[in-house]
Amino acid sequence: MSARILDGSQIASDIRKEVTAEIGAMAAQGIRPGLAVVLVGHNPASEIYVRGKVKACAEVGIYSEQHAAPETSTTADLLSVVDELNQRDDIDGILVQLPLPDQVDAKKVLLTVDPAKDVDGFHPLNVGFLSTQRPGLVPCTPAGVMEILKRSHIPIAGQHAVVVGRSDIVGKPAAMLLLNANATVTVCHSKTRDLPAVCRQADILVAAIGRAGLITRDFVKPGATVIDVGMNKVSDPAEFQRLFAGDSKREETFRKKGSVLVGDVHPEVALVAGALTPVPGGVGPLTIAMLMYNTLKAAKMRRSSGLEVSG
Ligand code: NDP
Repeated sequence: MSARILDGSQIASDIRKEVTAEIGAMAAQGIRPGLAVVLVGHNPASEIYVRGKVKACAEVGIYSEQHAAPETSTTADLLSVVDELNQRDDIDGILVQLPLPDQVDAKKVLLTVDPAKDVDGFHPLNVGFLSTQRPGLVPCTPAGVMEILKRSHIPIAGQHAVVVGRSDIVGKPAAMLLLNANATVTVCHSKTRDLPAVCRQADILVAAIGRAGLITRDFVKPGATVIDVGMNKVSDPAEFQRLFAGDSKREETFRKKGSVLVGDVHPEVALVAGALTPVPGGVGPLTIAMLMYNTLKAAKMRRSSGLEVSG
C-alpha cells in the first residue's frame, strides 16, 4: 500500500483563486485590502519569506507594502512602526516577520498589533477567540492544515488526532482547531513518554516538531492520515542517507545543492499511512494562501458592523 498524497500546492492554488475572486468583487465597491509586512534586519530566510508574501499579494490583488527596519532597531522603534500601521485605514493586515533581533521584546511588539489587523493570529485576543470558538484571525499554518483535511474529505469529528509539537505558532492552535472540529485531541511534546505508542493511536497525526524524519513508520497506525508541517534543511550526508537512500531524484538534488528540504515525517511512512502531505508541496504552500485569506477576512471584518475583533 502507498499513501494517498495530499496535494497542498493544488489546495493552496484553489484558495488563492477564491480569494482573488472575492477581492475582485470588493474592488467593484472601491475596496482594496492592504497588508503591511515589517521586516527587521537581513535574515536571508525571512527575506525569502517576505518576498513570497509580497508576490502572493500582487497575484491575488492585495495592496502590500514592506517596512524594512535596521538590525539595530529597538523595541520602541518597532512599536512606533506598528502604531502608525494600526492607525492607517488602508492597511487591513500587519505582519511582523519573525524572528526579531535579540534586543527587541518580540512579545511586546506582537501585543501592540491591533488584533483586528493581526493576520498571523498571534495576538492573545485572537488566541482567546480561537479557544472560545468566536470569530477571529487564526494562525496561517494550522489553518492551512485544517483546509488540507477538509478539502481532502478526511473525516475529523470523532477521530483521534495526535499533534506532536506545542508551539504557539503551530502545535497549540492546530490542536485547538482540531478540537473545535470535534476530534479527540492529544498533544505531545519533548517530554512525552513513549511518543511512538501515543502517535500510533492517531487517526490523524500532525507533526510540527522541527526534527527531520523523526516520525518513522513505527509511529503510524496503518491507514492513518499524516500531516507533515516540518520544514528542515538536511545537509549532513549520513542523515540524508537515513532518509532518502535509493531515492535517485533526491540524491541528484542533494548532489547539486548540498542540502534538501525534509519534513518531520520519514519518507517510509508513505508505506503505512492512508494519506500523507509531501514536503515540499504539502502544508508549506497553504501558509501563504491562508495569509491572503486572513488579510481578506480582516478587511471584511473591519468593514462590517458588530466586529468581534475591533480594537
Ligand atoms: P518549535 O521549535 O517552536 O516547536 C517544536 C515543538 O516540537 C515543541 O513543542 C517541542 O517540544 C516539540 N519537540 C521537539 N523535539 C521533540 C521530540 N524529540 N519529541 C517530541 N516533541 C518534540 O517549532 P514550530 O512549531 O515553530 O515549527 C515546527 C516545525 O514546523 C518546524 O520544522 C518548522 O520549520 C515548521 N514550520 C513550517 C511552516 C510551514 O509553513 N510549513 C510554518 C511554521 C513552522 P517542547 O515544547 O517540549 O520543547
